[in-house]
Amino acid sequence: MNKLDAQRQKEIQQAEELLFAGPQALGFAKGLFQGHFVADWVMPYPRIPAAQQTELDETLTGLCKFLDEDLDPAEIDRQADIPRGVIDGLGRIGVLGMTAPKEYGGRGFSQMANCKVLEEIGRRCASTSVFVNAHHSIGIRALLLFGTHEQKQKWLPKLSTGQQLGAFALTEKEAGSDAANVQMQARPSEDGSHFILNGEKRYITNAAIAHELTVMARTPVPGSDKTAITAFLVTPDMPGFEMLEARMPKMGIRGTATGRFALRDVKVPKENILGPPGKGLKVALTVLDFGRTTFGACCTGAAKTCLDLAVQHANTRKQFNKTLGNFDLVKKKIARMAADAYAMESMTTVTASLIDRGLEDYMLETAMLKVFTTERLWECINDVFQIYGGSAYFVDLPLERMLRDARINQIGEGANEVLTSFIALVGMRGPGMEFKEIYDTMMKPSRDRMSKAWAAGKNRLGATIRVPDVPVQSEQLRGHARQLGRLIWRFNFAVNRVLITYREPILDMQIVQERIANAAMDLFASTCVLSRQDSEIQFARRNGDAAAPDRAAADLFLRQSFRRIRSSLAGLTDNDDKALLAAANSSLAKPPS
Ligand SMILES: Cc1cc2nc3c(=O)[nH]c(=O)nc-3n(C[C@H](O)[C@H](O)[C@H](O)COP(=O)(O)OP(=O)(O)OC[C@H]3O[C@@H](n4cnc5c(N)ncnc54)[C@H](O)[C@@H]3O)c2cc1C
Repeated sequence: MNKLDAQRQKEIQQAEELLFAGPQALGFAKGLFQGHFVADWVMPYPRIPAAQQTELDETLTGLCKFLDEDLDPAEIDRQADIPRGVIDGLGRIGVLGMTAPKEYGGRGFSQMANCKVLEEIGRRCASTSVFVNAHHSIGIRALLLFGTHEQKQKWLPKLSTGQQLGAFALTEKEAGSDAANVQMQARPSEDGSHFILNGEKRYITNAAIAHELTVMARTPVPGSDKTAITAFLVTPDMPGFEMLEARMPKMGIRGTATGRFALRDVKVPKENILGPPGKGLKVALTVLDFGRTTFGACCTGAAKTCLDLAVQHANTRKQFNKTLGNFDLVKKKIARMAADAYAMESMTTVTASLIDRGLEDYMLETAMLKVFTTERLWECINDVFQIYGGSAYFVDLPLERMLRDARINQIGEGANEVLTSFIALVGMRGPGMEFKEIYDTMMKPSRDRMSKAWAAGKNRLGATIRVPDVPVQSEQLRGHARQLGRLIWRFNFAVNRVLITYREPILDMQIVQERIANAAMDLFASTCVLSRQDSEIQFARRNGDAAAPDRAAADLFLRQSFRRIRSSLAGLTDNDDKALLAAANSSLAKPPS
């Protein structure tokens, strides 16, 4: 096997591990790639049950009061530290164990409710929201999801209340975007009672302040010379744990403690393994699904702040004898921010509800949410920065801090390029397998294959001739719903054509993948917006509200999103890809000047 084949083998193996085994319900995003509109997952727009809503409202009131009185984001940025008083306050309110079950000291909130909490924190301070995410969304997530009752009983009560803090340690020098390339070694002891861990981790949020770290390390696969990743629960008091750099100085989210540490012959008891041995990659990716969901909530909060700040300035700052809000090019930015903030919130709520409702496989939706919200937030910050002009540049306003803070979002918890490619490839896997079934049967017909190929063919053909129905209840949304159904049909057609035209080489064609992923993300975002609008209109009607809900931002979002989808699909046949790749290759081949 040559090096390229070996690499491809490794990629296929990783992709297999990424995909959940066994039959399961078709999720919304995977449905899109098959030309289906799986309405049950997205309509009606999810609502938090009344009893939970009351508890959430009370929590939010207490949280907002605490944050407004005790959180100073500018000081956190200046001091590059989140004061212990803030951490303790968040712990008292329950934020640090929001979704942990009550029996282990948590608040037992749903993901949807938790996202509302994170949105409020994200509105005010990115350092604090990243700190909470690192502790709660990913730090203790493996324990919550994969821990045994004994492990949970032992560790969670202190972690859920913030007496102790958690961290999630995956990244290493050689394992950044290539998460499967973890080099940290975990060798079993001769008596099998523990593992001996060796290696280094870097860029780990909370590493220096955590009492419990979920650490990914490579363990031998029994009966073979292979190794696989396993998740371990490590504590910094274990002999051989060495903090190399507690707070790596950095550009944004300066309040978070991002660290680098080494494990040198650290003995970790086998009771500290989280999840099945050798399944650490699946543990890590599942954990990150949760992180990406609350990422969406934090970005939504920050986008709402951008909008508030933009409106405030546009209504007060005068130039040319007019307030800035009178200029269409300023209006354009404000309109876009309002539309995007609405969409980000809708998409976060729907994605969180998928987790709450027990959809088994939501990795495509969480990846879409992460890429979409982080890219949109970056645009929002750029726009509000521009509206503030020169004043945005100075440190007395929060904008330069927000700009510095937001830049990590497109890189952390999976770089957006990697996730974009992932969305396209995992999404296309379903229809790709069906085409393979048909192709293999044509090449080598057999009775057994015929029935599978027939089912695959029927499914592919069905999606090609049937425009999916998008079932909205509000008359005024029927036009948008029809357009969305038609765009899903066109999307499916484009996916089929890409698979038939490029076949296996599509695995490496990232520019084509990006167009497919972008179209899929906008289809998901528009669906969430449409579902929410439908719900809001119906709710107002049921309550006899004379004033219809404000539809301007949602209407704009749908129009712009549909335009982007058409443009992404048109780019599949009308593009400059060859010239682009030639220019890149030419630059890459030149020696540095
Ligand atoms: C402030 C901060 C906090 C962090 N906190 C944590 C934490 O708590 N726990 C943890 O485990 N990690 C953490 N990380 C690590 C973070 O997840 C990684 O930085 C991220 O996964 C990217 O890895 P990398 O930095 O090695 O970049 P690389 O993998 O070197 O990638 C660099 C760039 O190359 C491009 N790229 C890479 N691969 C591909 C590809 N296949 N296709 C196209 N383009 C590609 C992307 O543009 C990417 O941004 C943190 C990082 C930072 C900066």
